[in-house]
Amino acid sequence: MMEYKPVRQLPPSVARKIAAGEVIDRPSAVVRELMDNAIDAGATRIHVEIANGGIDLIRVTDNGSGMTAEDLALCTRTHTTSKISEETDLLRLSTLGFRGEALSSIDAVSRLEIRTSRENSGSWILDLGNIRAGNHPIGTSVSVEGLFENFPARKQFLKRSSAESSQCRQIFIEKALAWPGLEFKFSVDGETRFLLPPAATYLERTLAALEPKEPDTLFSQIHGVGDRFTFSAVLGSPDVVRADRRFEMIFINGRRIMEYSLLQALEYGCEGHFPNGSHPVACLFIDIDPSLVDFNIHPAKREARFRDPGALHHSVSSVVKDYYRRYAVRELKREEA
Ligand code: ADP
Ligand code: MG
Repeated sequence: MMEYKPVRQLPPSVARKIAAGEVIDRPSAVVRELMDNAIDAGATRIHVEIANGGIDLIRVTDNGSGMTAEDLALCTRTHTTSKISEETDLLRLSTLGFRGEALSSIDAVSRLEIRTSRENSGSWILDLGNIRAGNHPIGTSVSVEGLFENFPARKQFLKRSSAESSQCRQIFIEKALAWPGLEFKFSVDGETRFLLPPAATYLERTLAALEPKEPDTLFSQIHGVGDRFTFSAVLGSPDVVRADRRFEMIFINGRRIMEYSLLQALEYGCEGHFPNGSHPVACLFIDIDPSLVDFNIHPAKREARFRDPGALHHSVSSVVKDYYRRYAVRELKREEA
């Protein structure tokens, strides 16, 4: 059981240290924030539902810790969080959220309803700013309806419902890849699109979530260890080729980031095994001591800064390179036999 920490307003001195305001620019941003909250709450089952590309409804239901009535009353205000309390916490973040801004930003641009229940704390519903008693199992269900309804300027930047829906689906897949031990379900307009049971390995989860057309035997999981970091990579063999880099993904401590130099390290490891213009399926999952990485630099936490990027890059490219070299040798032996 996770230790209980109440939701509190961050002192202004800490709030000022937090990288630029949360941007809720489209439905997939809501999906990302709500899934992060469910994961941070220690959920083992997370259900994401969207309707009309998320514009009509986004609902994320979890079986995590739930909230007390006091937490519920505070959580939609600005800079309210249970995850950090002082400035030094920013130097060793172990949760996906920490700014205490997502729910308040979402609340500002939609109709937000939260149903929650925490052990020995009763069940509560927050709806239109009012709290009343509810009847919810332990956990939380957050519903976001009518996104940007009163914000025509933002609404006009949304794409077709099918395009918004596929962005939501992409975020769902990324979270599922990063958290293989949790069960994830994704429903679109009332139909289940993914039901991913808890997986024992990244490999198992990656195959279930990405649904590649090639046989499972063409994929492997490898591991690397360094000073205060470890990583796993799920790699497709050289017979698994993709036309673009969409299947080269980097995850750090449970979140996907766009980190050009790490992508380069990954590609360097694959070099020579993929014909020009083709790309591997290569998902890299890094676990690193939180004090060695800073996520507080990008509003959507899409980037990270490392204390010692060199060691990590070197380790990733050499372990990946070694895998492809051994693979090539094995293939050669098979051809000779
Ligand atoms: P942050 O995640 O950065 O703390 P949020 O605005 O996303 O900020 O959430 C505010 C607080 O509300 C969280 O710190 C947490 O205490 C609580 N909360 C939000 N979603 C959930 C959830 N699904 N389960 C339990 N608590 C939650
Ligand atoms: Mg959050």
